[in-house]
Amino acid sequence: MRDGYEKLRARLVEEQLLPRGIHDPAVLAAMAAVPRHLFVEEALRPQAYGDFPLPIGEGQTISQPYIVALMTQLLELNKEDRVLEIGTGCGYQAAVLAAICRQVYTVERIKPLLARARRTFDRLQLFNILSKADDGTEGWAERAPFDKIIVTAGGPSIPSPLVEQLADPGVLVIPVGDRDLQALTVLRKQEGEITSHIEERVRFVKLVGAHGWKAE
Ligand code: SAH
Repeated sequence: MRDGYEKLRARLVEEQLLPRGIHDPAVLAAMAAVPRHLFVEEALRPQAYGDFPLPIGEGQTISQPYIVALMTQLLELNKEDRVLEIGTGCGYQAAVLAAICRQVYTVERIKPLLARARRTFDRLQLFNILSKADDGTEGWAERAPFDKIIVTAGGPSIPSPLVEQLADPGVLVIPVGDRDLQALTVLRKQEGEITSHIEERVRFVKLVGAHGWKAE
């Protein structure tokens, strides 16, 4: 996209992603293309490509670019994949997924955030994103199974509906842990077997819902 921010995005790829091991060409291309500045409020646009998270309203944050790229790479996306995202937030992660794969389903519990994300999807003509306001810890049963599932908020455990709604083969990426620190966990379903491993320590906002933290 020619929007005056191409150089900042190219620098983001060179300085924040390649040196830290992001190598999937589709992920690098998506990070170089998706206009992150359009997902944050106007005053924050000059900082949109910085190496840090940013506030998106309602006490929530958009992850640092590297974490978005890392989680996307861990999903091992294919063009034909149908992906479920829990925690739409400002919609940036969904847009990165939508640049790579066939169909993105995204669920957000805070309605004003979802409304804003939807306007940005429309503006960018991202027609392969379907969204709804709901408790994403229940998944999206009507649209299951999903080839890949990404949760962009941290929960105390992996919500069982998400494991059930994951296709076989399938990959689920979720931060799991306590309120302050989580382990970025990769769960894989293959030939009926489930395995998981931890990638790195991360800090996400809380996953609030029936299979997450209780609302305060
Ligand atoms: N992927 C987002 C990150 C947003 S932060 C982005 O690119 O901006 C995480 C989001 O998860 C917050 O907006 C929060 O409201 C949402 N969230 C927390 N618990 C949720 C739940 N049970 N269902 C859906 N969304 C949830």
